[in-house]
Amino acid sequence: MLQGIGASPGYGIGKAIIIEDANLDYSSVKYSGAQEEKDRLYKAVEQFNEETREMAEGLKKSAGEKEAEILEGHITMLADPFMLSQMEENIDSGAVAEAAVDTVCTMFYDMFAAIEDEMMRQRASDVKDIKDTLIKILLGVKSIDISAVAKDSILIANDFTPSMTSQINGDNVAAIITEVGGVTSHSAILARAMGIPASLSAPNCMNVIQNGDMLIVDGFKGKVYINPSDDEINEFRQKQKVYLEEKEGLKVYFNKKTVTKSGLVKKVYGNIGKPDDAQNVIQNGGEGIGLFRTEFLFMDRDHEPTEEEQFEAYSTVAKTMDGKEVIIRTLDIGGDKAIDYLKIGREDNPFLGFRAIRYCLKNKELYKKQIRSILRAACFGDIKIMLPLVTCLEEVRQAKELIAECEQELENEGIKYRKAPLGVMIETPSAAIISDLLAKEVEFFSIGTNDLTGYTMAVDRGNANVSHLYDVFQPSVLRAIEMTIKNAKAAGIMVGMCGEAAANELLIPKLVEWGLDEFSVTPSSILKTRKTICECE
Ligand code: PEP
Ligand code: MG
Repeated sequence: MLQGIGASPGYGIGKAIIIEDANLDYSSVKYSGAQEEKDRLYKAVEQFNEETREMAEGLKKSAGEKEAEILEGHITMLADPFMLSQMEENIDSGAVAEAAVDTVCTMFYDMFAAIEDEMMRQRASDVKDIKDTLIKILLGVKSIDISAVAKDSILIANDFTPSMTSQINGDNVAAIITEVGGVTSHSAILARAMGIPASLSAPNCMNVIQNGDMLIVDGFKGKVYINPSDDEINEFRQKQKVYLEEKEGLKVYFNKKTVTKSGLVKKVYGNIGKPDDAQNVIQNGGEGIGLFRTEFLFMDRDHEPTEEEQFEAYSTVAKTMDGKEVIIRTLDIGGDKAIDYLKIGREDNPFLGFRAIRYCLKNKELYKKQIRSILRAACFGDIKIMLPLVTCLEEVRQAKELIAECEQELENEGIKYRKAPLGVMIETPSAAIISDLLAKEVEFFSIGTNDLTGYTMAVDRGNANVSHLYDVFQPSVLRAIEMTIKNAKAAGIMVGMCGEAAANELLIPKLVEWGLDEFSVTPSSILKTRKTICECE
């Protein structure tokens, strides 16, 4: 069994087809003169544009408009006069067209790959895709025709570039497996858009799996079973059947409003961790984003993101959501989310320690950078700010002062911004108990049941000896939830829930009865949550 990252839900059962990287060795190509090489280059660019346009058209139908834009972006990138003039210069100094493409694209690739930003890294992979395709055209290399693979094929590659993915026929491809890439890579986004199960970053999969091997791919857990037993195949066929039936049944909820039988209008939003996830919310029928966990922008790097990087991330989400509400939670680090360079230091009780808003209010420069970038991004959509782990009124008041300070600074600097409504997470017993007072300070609540359950029951859910106490249905937790909703309603403010419990089928009827307005869940749970709400009285 191989353990990859579950990047696109579903189960795929079928035969392995390994897609080897094409041989792009151009060392034997002879220089045929500057003009001839330039003619070859421009002919190849023309063919590239034509083929890419066709692929984008195909992708529009199989995955959607937004996905096709990735490929259309390749044409735009290649139309960059600087890129082409650099290639011409290379040719003038004696390089064959293939080498010119290689050198210039590699230069752009290195430039994008060096920037520590997810979006820029994606650009780097776009440039690599452009380079490989152009060199293939120049060399006349025919790659394996992915669109013609047999039914129930499982494709394995180092990575699926957008141009490769665009050729995938969802009727024949049962799953994809890659050696690199994560949930936000192009391969993942496109696989999800096409509904193809995917396990990405499956270690050494190109070597461990042989052409023709029978495989099962669990796109939820990222597991790949190689030559499974008949019992395993039957078990997964059954799981697949249940999953597909349920998925089919949920389709009718895609364009439906979230309205209960008695006519109460609710909202189902998605939770995200990275800007690209916003696409996933749209693709799953989300009406907005109820929780953007911004700490993910601070992870997997060795210094904090700049104001510009954060502005780019938040405004990208706002643009993707096209006017739909986006609730951005300010940095929620500490506890189980340690970030070395923030130097929180070792603590005996990190969950009760220097974390989230407590850390941010003591590190004003860092916090202000985040607030400024959110206020600036608010010009591009309906953005709201949400404070994590609030326990007392003073924290909210201090945060408000900082926000006002940031607004004043932006005003003085002549930088465009918009005021963003402020809300708090109710995820500590203290916040729930003073929710009547907090409601007078802010414009909305979002109940974080993941932490609220832990703190109310005084239980560390990672500790197996006490995990039976980690239960949202404990009367104390339910009372904290009910009280919070009632206090929000009494004050006339909006109240949502962004903890995992918002998708709990058994809890949803109670939440509806108490008056919860918004349910923010993992994108793949959006339609099921809407269905459950629509079935409530
Ligand atoms: C929560 O605590 O319920 C919550 C949504 O926050 P996180 O899971 O990010 O701690
Ligand atoms: Mg929390």
